[in-house]
Amino acid sequence: MIRVTVWNEGLHEKTSKEVSAIYPDGIHNYIKGFLQTEEDIEVTTATLTQRKCGLTDEVLDNTDVLIWWGHMAHHLVPDKIVKKVYDRVLGGMGIIVLHSGHHSKIFKKLMGTTCNLQWREGDRERLWTVNPSHPIAKGVPAYIDIDVEEMYGERFDIPEPQELVFMGWFAGGEVFRSGCCWQKGLGKVFYFQPGHESNPTYHNKDIQLIIKNAVRWAAPQNPVIKDKGCPHAKVTPEQKYKENNNE
Ligand code: ZN
Repeated sequence: MIRVTVWNEGLHEKTSKEVSAIYPDGIHNYIKGFLQTEEDIEVTTATLTQRKCGLTDEVLDNTDVLIWWGHMAHHLVPDKIVKKVYDRVLGGMGIIVLHSGHHSKIFKKLMGTTCNLQWREGDRERLWTVNPSHPIAKGVPAYIDIDVEEMYGERFDIPEPQELVFMGWFAGGEVFRSGCCWQKGLGKVFYFQPGHESNPTYHNKDIQLIIKNAVRWAAPQNPVIKDKGCPHAKVTPEQKYKENNNE
């Protein structure tokens, strides 16, 4: 089983009737709902207002892939927690950063850039699958039309993605690198643009499929290393020599 924790700051749902009408139990529970129907995925949630933002050692110990949705309260996530999540990613935990999470502390720390972009609310998006052979594109159509989504446009200030799976085109003429993959340390990172809180984007079955595929892609192949660093790097050249020569 792939153990997923969906993290959400969960504030828009409490302060906006428009948002709570689309996600009555919060974005985190909505995402949990469509992920937990999969036989190979088990899901828990965590939110900003819980103790330690819901990301205790115990929760992280039981997380293979962390999904992150945040927008208005990035600054309220303590640096100590961000560092802990960052170290887990370097140790192999997968992370999927959604939509406005582009400005979260954890994403900016992983990228090492501003992660700034152009934006405008309320446009039509056509999301193009530009790498159909990628695991995250499995079963996904050539393009997905999203009637209303917040426009995110270039330039998106990120390091060059190691793999680009989706490109967004907006009716205003803008384009955006909407589905990007990186490996950081031992961990896989996927950024996915659609998912503005006041549009029902996560209700779209194809968007759900992409997130399910991304969970499977980002899941670690080996147990996550809790203390920073790769265990293979701890073997000294002398030890390696002895091993190779049966000494
Ligand atoms: Zn948004």
